[in-house]
Amino acid sequence: MKRYSRTGLRIGTYGPIVLLLLALISALVPALIAAPEGHVLPGNASFLVQLWLGHGRILLPLLLFNAALILFGWRHYRALRAQIADRARAAARARTLAMRDPLTGFHNRRSLAESGAELLAHAAHRGRAMAMLLLDVDHFKNVNDIHGHAVGDGLLRSIAAEIARLAPPGAVMARLGGDEFACAFEIAHDDAAAAHAVAEGVVARLSQPLKADGTLVHTSISLGISISAPDCDTVDQLLRRADIAMYAAKQRGRNGVSWFDSSMEKALQKRSELESKMRQGIPAGEFEPYFEQQVDLATGRLSGFEVLARWNHPMLGHIPPTQFIPVAEETGLIGDLSFSVIRQALIEAREWDPELSISINLSPLQMRDPWLAQKLVKLLVETSFPGHRLEIEITETGLFDNLPLAQSIVGSLKNQGIRLALDDFGTGYSSLAHLRALPFDRIKIDKSFILSLLDNPESAAIVNAIARLGDNLSLPVTAEGVERADIENRLREIGVNKGQGWLYGHPMPISQVRRLLAERQLLPLSASGAAARQRG
Ligand code: C2E
Ligand code: CA
Ligand code: CA
Repeated sequence: MKRYSRTGLRIGTYGPIVLLLLALISALVPALIAAPEGHVLPGNASFLVQLWLGHGRILLPLLLFNAALILFGWRHYRALRAQIADRARAAARARTLAMRDPLTGFHNRRSLAESGAELLAHAAHRGRAMAMLLLDVDHFKNVNDIHGHAVGDGLLRSIAAEIARLAPPGAVMARLGGDEFACAFEIAHDDAAAAHAVAEGVVARLSQPLKADGTLVHTSISLGISISAPDCDTVDQLLRRADIAMYAAKQRGRNGVSWFDSSMEKALQKRSELESKMRQGIPAGEFEPYFEQQVDLATGRLSGFEVLARWNHPMLGHIPPTQFIPVAEETGLIGDLSFSVIRQALIEAREWDPELSISINLSPLQMRDPWLAQKLVKLLVETSFPGHRLEIEITETGLFDNLPLAQSIVGSLKNQGIRLALDDFGTGYSSLAHLRALPFDRIKIDKSFILSLLDNPESAAIVNAIARLGDNLSLPVTAEGVERADIENRLREIGVNKGQGWLYGHPMPISQVRRLLAERQLLPLSASGAAARQRG
């Protein structure tokens, strides 16, 4: 482009003079040709005058024609010059668009690779290191869902402005897409503390409310850090490590800083292996429902079962739900997994005594699925399971991020006669406001309080308080984790309605439930026949 403009400048300065000379020459040449022999010396002025007098009629139009040519050439040249400038501007704009994120003005992922590599090379040349911070906004989707996209965009702009303000001079900042940002800067080789201080500063600032399109938004970020090293000397590797560290920051409860370490990489690998095994295992029916008895504390009568997912992998054996449920949630497999287990449970339980209820666990992530109610109702129809026998257990976690959606889901389910229990009560916010935001039918006290009921006065106080709360709100209370008879007695005294736990039996597979129900005459004839066949 520079070459063009220099040539243009030269043409611009000398062009008119050259053209004028050309015109004069072209006017004189025909005259000289027309001069008589021996009178061709241009210095002879009288000859020129004679020439003018003699051939003026021809020369004048020639001169005029040349002047017109000059004008035409000049205008053409000006238009060409403007066109070249336009093209140069468009090319520069296209280059900026290709390099920059239009929303924040930060680098985009591609140009971070280039600028980051330059910074990395510069740092290495000076015997220094490069720190890479990777930031992800916690629950950014909720901001869009609740406040709309204009506020979401405004929030991203405000976050970018704060990162730019807090980053050290010379830092390369990028938006990697969505709500993910990167910030790379030089540090002294042994000065991890400097990088940490920047990271802590950014996390602290972004946990304060931010102005976004005229709205004050409360948010937080999770941040991962990596530092260049002999085995990590490209932008790609730094980003990958920072990403793994950021994921660990999310796992640790978000709103924090996490440094990369190699154990994280191994954990990630294990997790992705688990994910691929789950992808095969769900359609193969490897996940099955186990049933945990729920007992009426006043009468000792079996009132129903909680369904708990179990995974018996053909090679790895038994994998506990505390391991596979979080992976299913992160990978979006929780819906398929959950429905596969619930379907099996309902098909089985429809054969049991109609007095027996079935409680299923729904992940907070499933409560963000706008089609959840429809899917559940469809499943009830397909399995011919009556809605009034079904209870859904949900925890407070994440439930109130999108309360209107949760309320609409719950409304549709309650129309089918399905009941709603607040699970793990006492471990989350456990606020009265939360309890009243949705039409719960039951509170379940988390097992951590029940297990220590007799040894820990605080647990006893909490269990007592929850029982009173349930009393006042007319919500029956279930205690989970009842392992001993003395705890059961105490719960009965406190006024807790139902209990479940190892005192009554461990969660069991379908075949074992059938045997138990057959013994207690809680299986209608057709099903007890099947149970008897299984026993035999
Ligand atoms: P949760 O819903 O609180 O389930 C109760 C957990 O306590 C179960 O663990 C159960 O086996 C265990 N438990 C029951 N009685 C006792 C007892 O007396 N003592 C002790 N120490 N533990 C007892 P599990 O089956 O390992 O499930 C763990 C968690 O995994 C569940 O906690 C639930 O949050 C989740 N989960 C299990 N199955 C599903 C499922 O199908 N869907 C979803 N979304 N989550 C599930
Ligand atoms: Ca539960
Ligand atoms: Ca629990």
